[in-house]
Amino acid sequence: MASLCRQIIRANALKTTLFSTARRGYADRMLPDPLEHATGLERKELLAMQSGNDDPFNMKVLKKAAGTRDNPTLVPSCFDARIVGCICEEHATAVNWLWVHKGHPRRCECGHWYKLIEKTPL
Ligand SMILES: [Zn+2]
Repeated sequence: MASLCRQIIRANALKTTLFSTARRGYADRMLPDPLEHATGLERKELLAMQSGNDDPFNMKVLKKAAGTRDNPTLVPSCFDARIVGCICEEHATAVNWLWVHKGHPRRCECGHWYKLIEKTPL
């Protein structure tokens, strides 16, 4: 019985030593920086965000400008056209989608104007 108790005590001591060593080993290590592993567009996005641009692909909702023909809401795009979703009324439950082409400002059904402006790609 005494030898069984000694074996259990040794096993618990060994387990404690192993776990504490493992914890110490992981405690001083950190997860790698995602920028070190990112490539392509993801890397460009992370670099842009690091330099202070929090919306490098212009995916955030735009605030509407006056929306007149002379002062339209400017929509940045790297391409010749872009799809714009207009929330025509404040509590509208549907989005009105329309294409806006470069050089041709477009009027939504609600009367709001949109104009495409050129943006340099990342
Ligand atoms: Zn609209």
